[in-house]
Amino acid sequence: IQAAFQRDLSYLLELIGSGKESLIFMKKRIRHLATQWLRASHKLEQKLEGKHRDQKQILIHIGFLTEESGDVFSPRVLKGGPLGEMVQWADILAVLFILGHSLKITVSLKELQSNLGVPPGRGNCPLMVPLPFDLIYTDYHGLQQMKQHMGLSFKKYRCRVRVIDTFGTEPAYNHEEYATLHGYRTNWGYWNLHPKQFMTMFPHTPDNSFMGFVSEELNVTEKQFIKSNKASNMAVVYGKEASIWKLQGKEKFLAILNKYMEIHGTVYYETQRPPEVPAFVKNHGLLPQHDFQQLLRKAKLFIGFGFPYEGPAPLEAIANGCVFLQARFNPPHSSLNHEFFRGKPTSREVSSQHPYAEDFIGKPHVWTVDYNNSEEFESAIKAIMSTKVDPYLPYEYTSEGMLERIHAYIQNQDFCATAALPDKSNSPTMQSSLSPFSLQPNSTVLVWSHNVSSNNPPAWPPVKSMQVWISEIGQACTRTCQRHNLVCEPEFFKFLNKKEVFQQLNIVCDSTESEMNHLYPAVAENIRECYLQKDPLLFSCAGCNTKYQRLCPCRDYQKGQVALCRDCL
Ligand code: UDP
Repeated sequence: IQAAFQRDLSYLLELIGSGKESLIFMKKRIRHLATQWLRASHKLEQKLEGKHRDQKQILIHIGFLTEESGDVFSPRVLKGGPLGEMVQWADILAVLFILGHSLKITVSLKELQSNLGVPPGRGNCPLMVPLPFDLIYTDYHGLQQMKQHMGLSFKKYRCRVRVIDTFGTEPAYNHEEYATLHGYRTNWGYWNLHPKQFMTMFPHTPDNSFMGFVSEELNVTEKQFIKSNKASNMAVVYGKEASIWKLQGKEKFLAILNKYMEIHGTVYYETQRPPEVPAFVKNHGLLPQHDFQQLLRKAKLFIGFGFPYEGPAPLEAIANGCVFLQARFNPPHSSLNHEFFRGKPTSREVSSQHPYAEDFIGKPHVWTVDYNNSEEFESAIKAIMSTKVDPYLPYEYTSEGMLERIHAYIQNQDFCATAALPDKSNSPTMQSSLSPFSLQPNSTVLVWSHNVSSNNPPAWPPVKSMQVWISEIGQACTRTCQRHNLVCEPEFFKFLNKKEVFQQLNIVCDSTESEMNHLYPAVAENIRECYLQKDPLLFSCAGCNTKYQRLCPCRDYQKGQVALCRDCL
């Protein structure tokens, strides 16, 4: 069936149901952004020019909101608890609905079971029940519940699952056998999913799919109005829980800030002013989302203390014309040295409170400085106060950008097909498609100059967007591609994982081994040993080791939409 854009959001609000504070928050957000969503849906519809889109049957099971997983979030919605996840789920619901898919939404185990066709009380029975959904969007909690209650069907149907996973899951941690053997086990488990089935809040590693969320958009008049009404000496602090004010050493930089600016906070409190918040700070208490945006419109500066990591608020601030000032982390925070990341399935090194803001936005909107260096901090404040900055929102965080991206995933990503097909990477058809590789004079880059043989299933993203680069020693492919203004594309590893490719890259191999290692294909230069990847599930853009130079499949991307290559729509 062809999917048709659905624009009557009142039906979605009904589907979401009620009762929980978290559901009320999500519905309010959807209602508030309705006009923006509708405008974006018209724009995307025009762009797609009537192209056929399949309508999918979709189950959305928000595991962290179920009583069975403790639902620790709902009671904290009004108390400054994390709202980022709720923001993202609200936007995902809006997108899937507007794109015209048929949705079922569940926030309890009972509803989940009845939708999966599992008879109540038969949870652990190894029944094979046909699954009435093409796609299931859930989170880590929901995944666990499905595994417990779907019996044998879980294994068969897990390729239809999409896991909303804020911080991302790298291939080395996802692969059960490899994680167990090599010390990548975490509390989040290893699910042997295709790494692109994990969908993140920011484009952390291209091994996962970037899902994202949206921020409120402004029209030209609003932008003008905001610009002329900015209070150049007003700062808002990022963080709504009193605990962030416990940060050691904050007195020094707060005193400097207080010399120049009036400091505002939106810290939750019950009856008394939270003792952690100094008296010179104007605390508004936790604000409803809309009022928070209004405060940002007035403010010049949005300042982070180092926590929470990577939430939506800095993007909202920048979209409302604030400059975001944040601390540089040196050394970077990671699962090795910071409690928050400990046990998370990622080796990512986080170089500031909000690396996306630092790397994808940067100056003049984002300043990342060393807070221990009072001079650097003070001159940043002075410079920020005297620069005029336009409100800015990257395209990928607009409603149109998100609709477009999720549309492309739904129509093109198929992890069931890959699971069912034998690995063809060494079959004769693929061998014959080697000739289209051509070596650039530049020596390290290979481009694909023809279409792949039509015997193969069409690759998505299309393989003509590929460029191959060799990493420096000890560099991850994520970084290698970034340095060439490209992005690593793990779907293309299968085209590189061949002996012949080493030759074409002028790499002399004294020997070639095929092993399970998330850094392969790679070469150990000094000993001229070449390594191929034995298990496609371990192909990984993330990861590096001082022993290897890696073969990196990079691709181009649309400006402001890193998830999509130029010909990806
Ligand atoms: N927010 C809010 N009221 C406030 C401060 C923030 O509603 O007083 C909202 C804000 O609009 C953002 C959301 O809280 O969309 C999540 O913010 P944050 O970046 O702090 O992420 P979290 O750590 O809560 O996931």
